[in-house]
Amino acid sequence: MTKSNRIIAHVVLPVPVRRHFDYLIPDNQSTRHPLIGKRVLVPFGKSRKKVGLVIGQSNLSEIPPDKLKAIENVIDESPLLNDKQLNLLQWISNYYLAPIGDLIFSSLPPILRLGHKLEIKREIFWQVSATGKTTDKSSLSRAKKQLAILGFLSNLDGPSSRFALNEQFHDWRNPVNELIKKGLVETIERESSHLDHQSDFIDIILNAEQQNAFELICKGMETNGRFLLDGVTGSGKTEIYIKVIQKVVNLGKQALVLVPEIGLTPHFITRFKKRINAEIVLVHSGLTDNERLQAWIKAKNGTAKVIIGTRSAVWTPMKSPGVIIVDEEHDPSYKQQEGVRYSAKDIAILRSRDEKATIILGSATPSLESLHNVEKNKLNRITLYTRVENAQPPKFKLIDLRGKKLHGALSDELIESMRQVIGDKKQVLLFQNRRGYSPVQMCHECGWIHKCDRCDIPLTFHKHLNRLLCHHCGIQRPQGDACQECSSTEIIPVGHGTERLYETLSELFPDANILRIDRDTTRHKGAMNSFTDKILSGEIDILVGTQMLAKGHHFPNVTLVGIIDADMGLYSNDFRAGEKMGQMITQVSGRAGRASHPGTVMIQTHYPDHPLIRLLIQNDYQNFAQIQLTERKMVNLPPYIYQVLLRAEGYEIDQPLNFLRQSETKLRNIADNLEIFGPYPSPIEKRRGRYRFQLLIHSEKRSELQKYMHEWVNKLEQIKIGNKVRWSLDVDPIDLL
Ligand code: ADP
Ligand code: ZN
Ligand code: ZN
Repeated sequence: MTKSNRIIAHVVLPVPVRRHFDYLIPDNQSTRHPLIGKRVLVPFGKSRKKVGLVIGQSNLSEIPPDKLKAIENVIDESPLLNDKQLNLLQWISNYYLAPIGDLIFSSLPPILRLGHKLEIKREIFWQVSATGKTTDKSSLSRAKKQLAILGFLSNLDGPSSRFALNEQFHDWRNPVNELIKKGLVETIERESSHLDHQSDFIDIILNAEQQNAFELICKGMETNGRFLLDGVTGSGKTEIYIKVIQKVVNLGKQALVLVPEIGLTPHFITRFKKRINAEIVLVHSGLTDNERLQAWIKAKNGTAKVIIGTRSAVWTPMKSPGVIIVDEEHDPSYKQQEGVRYSAKDIAILRSRDEKATIILGSATPSLESLHNVEKNKLNRITLYTRVENAQPPKFKLIDLRGKKLHGALSDELIESMRQVIGDKKQVLLFQNRRGYSPVQMCHECGWIHKCDRCDIPLTFHKHLNRLLCHHCGIQRPQGDACQECSSTEIIPVGHGTERLYETLSELFPDANILRIDRDTTRHKGAMNSFTDKILSGEIDILVGTQMLAKGHHFPNVTLVGIIDADMGLYSNDFRAGEKMGQMITQVSGRAGRASHPGTVMIQTHYPDHPLIRLLIQNDYQNFAQIQLTERKMVNLPPYIYQVLLRAEGYEIDQPLNFLRQSETKLRNIADNLEIFGPYPSPIEKRRGRYRFQLLIHSEKRSELQKYMHEWVNKLEQIKIGNKVRWSLDVDPIDLL
């Protein structure tokens, strides 16, 4: 350390380096106003410039003053992040062993990372003109698209943003311009808060159970309560969130609501807008950069009262936070799986403590982690036992597949029940968590399986593309390649994805309206919304789909749910497979039925006596989860112990292995009381041509683990062969792939 007579700024940059960089503060900057929390433009390397953020300043540096370069430009007039936020980010960076610059910059809206000014830009909006409102629309009868757009705009409460038009229409520019030429539509320029206030508010009166939960939460608000709202699907959790948010807003505070998927946000927004008289903003990756920035600014300055978003929305600053809600808290999408591998749920909990806000984690199938936190009194559990309007819980039936003749993947019993339900003009939901036609292609002569050359997994056949796809790396291969072992051309599809199920169903039920919902069919913007409309209108007889069906939606006309294959979760090498299966089946089952026509769930299995299956059909997730927890405790697995996973991959098999062996030695030298497993090949041994290995570390004490990890990370960076491999650390990994 050298002391300097000048003030030195400690700057972090968006680079994967676990330290800050020092720069001189230019003379024209008054030192009375520290730069901490502001972005600056700094020289980096030989001739490059980078946007950085000042996290501290002092007159100390490890670099001699005459070697230091100066900040070129200070971008922000006032700090983007205050001391408290910076402290929290420091803490998170320590916890996740993540480079601080990487973390801070990935927590900012993308446009701020590039150095754009913090300002709200005006944007163009479209609305129906006075003429448009009175014109007879039949004059447009031949311009279908224009008519549709005019209809869409007329039904809105206010002008439409580019975002909303994009959501609804492909290529809307030309038809809109035509409408403008005809004087039917006009543009206005204003601030973009892409959600307008609603005029027709509705109110809902909570039932006794909901009211009780609401009051408990209100009481807890005074002491920054932490809640697990554990209520079966349809028990009215969302209504409780809304009441809590109304209260928070009335107190002049803000609410942050996290949901697992973008697909769910429109559904939430519509509901929230009808109930909450305050500015609501959305934060997710489907927005334009400008829209995201505006939402961020409005949350930061307090104009936006409700912020709804997916994982990354957890970083949104709030001027006066009142409550943070994490809906479907068990959902794995809250954990980031690349870059800084943070858990948005855990960060939400941390933030609530730091910012003195109430936190509510909600789910019909709470994660074992949260249930464990209830055990430790870190969360207060509030249970909702009944469905609103006395909708009955579904009845479960097991179908023993052993030795039975199947039609495609369907048993006679399931088909028979489907016929009855469709005959009664009700709907069937079939759940199969595999997209594509068939997940495995096998040589009928010799049993060879067609795998991806670059990854160690079988290719999935997609019939509409007539191609084989790798679901890990996305590579495509033509269908019809001969067997690479025996040259036979008789390659048969094994297993049933949603596409193949759809085909079977079309043959078995030629008159039925069948809808397939998976990532392939919902790729288009707005697709999920229009599918939901179709289902709710009763137009559809059978819907078949993946876990997308298990999220957020209610389908009251569905009276039969078929779980095509419950066995996948039973014998996996992932210790979380059982928990995931239980959550998925319970969630899908909960989509069905209402008071007047309760639902039935039929589960097809080859293991009707398996204890997990037996527990699930009692429709008692609480008991199911409790037993899983006890098992985890017995065998010393999370949430009873803490894990850190070091992954490494490289083109030559020796490189990652070598790196991990050296890493292991270094760790054993630092700590002799940690359990270290490996290095061993990852369950997916090869991906995109790289060999993959991992080292798994267990500890019963989180603090101990953290202490050693820091010393270790610094040592890892010195391992020479580290340059040849890609390695990453995953703290609290949710899968060990
Ligand atoms: P969850 O979030 O637990 O799945 P929701 O809050 O979505 O449950 O409620 C399910 C359905 O019941 C929704 O259509 C909702 O509008 C309705 N609902 C919830 N609470 C009430 C209530 N107290 N009175 C009338 N309808 C309600
Ligand atoms: Zn063969
Ligand atoms: Zn692949």
